[in-house]
Amino acid sequence: TKQIVLASRPSGTPELSNFNTKEITLPELKEGEILLKGLFYSVDPYMRGKMNDKKSYTPPFKLDEPIDGGVVAEVVESKSGKFGKGDVVMGQLPWQELIITAEKGLKKIDANIAPASYYLGILGMPGLTAYIGFTEIGKPKAGETVVVSGAAGAVGTVVGQIAKLKGCKVIGIAGTDEKIAVMKEKFGYDEGINYKSTKDMNKAIQEHCPDGVDIYFDNVGGEVSDAVMSNLNFHARVPVCGQISLYNSKEVETGPRLQPILVTKSVLMQGFIVSNYQSLFEESSKQMAEWVKEGKLQSTETIIEGFDKLPEALLGLFKGDNTGKMIVKA
Ligand code: NDP
Repeated sequence: TKQIVLASRPSGTPELSNFNTKEITLPELKEGEILLKGLFYSVDPYMRGKMNDKKSYTPPFKLDEPIDGGVVAEVVESKSGKFGKGDVVMGQLPWQELIITAEKGLKKIDANIAPASYYLGILGMPGLTAYIGFTEIGKPKAGETVVVSGAAGAVGTVVGQIAKLKGCKVIGIAGTDEKIAVMKEKFGYDEGINYKSTKDMNKAIQEHCPDGVDIYFDNVGGEVSDAVMSNLNFHARVPVCGQISLYNSKEVETGPRLQPILVTKSVLMQGFIVSNYQSLFEESSKQMAEWVKEGKLQSTETIIEGFDKLPEALLGLFKGDNTGKMIVKA
């Protein structure tokens, strides 16, 4: 079967040459093991950090070993009592077409609620990130003004919709006019700002947020965030979810000093990693599934066909190739 490994570590923006496809022979299935066929593979921004040889909140990918990530797969053969042939499961699994794995960490998926690929997006890690980060740190109140960066992506589209469900006014920042149109028409954003074509972001935010910004859900960092931060209200909350604009930087520049804003406006700015909120997963997943079932939350995916396209899809996240969750279908 085919597997995709990390061939070399990138310096700056990753390239296709950092990956390699290998053909391997799988061993016999042992007692307790399951043979899976990958159906949908998730590519996520956090994977860029794991390409560096640096300890972070998860260990780096190993050279010449398969990349691993969120995968939805079908059970082809099972020597486990827990999963049977034909079951659809998800887990943190290697980038292989066929995968042998133990039961641990695998979860059966309920395809009655939603398409299986949703478990990598709105009903999976990105959905939980949006829900937990926005409600636990953002603490939204009806009538407040919310700004979301990376607003047309997997996490951003969910944050925007939850903000609307909570009765907030929502302004999204994204990289193309097409994305802004989708955000407004499909996800209910009140306004959108194209950060690539807007010369003065500070002015654009002032115009769209005449009452200031109460919550800034930050997915991107850099200059986009600098502009939002200078428009925060008294007691504003800033869940710092991601900083994708900096992930490929060799050196991170010093931005404006934020502490004076935090002090004078009594702002709460808090970074978070969703995996540290395990105790909220069950309840949060239930709420998200309910909203999806009731049609209160919509999902958009960019699905790229072909296992071999995994590296290309991952690199595409840094070029804004996706609207909603970026997924590879085998
Ligand atoms: P997205 O689906 O949002 O995909 C990435 C998007 O980022 C692209 O489509 C692109 O959209 C935008 N982007 C890429 N480069 C830049 C740049 N230089 N400046 C501004 N925008 C850029 O990814 P996710 O929803 O999966 O993740 C969003 C963020 O949330 C990431 O920063 C990620 O690391 C973080 N995250 C954090 C988690 C946590 O636990 N804290 C968990 C999950 C994700 P555009 O066309 O608008 O530029």
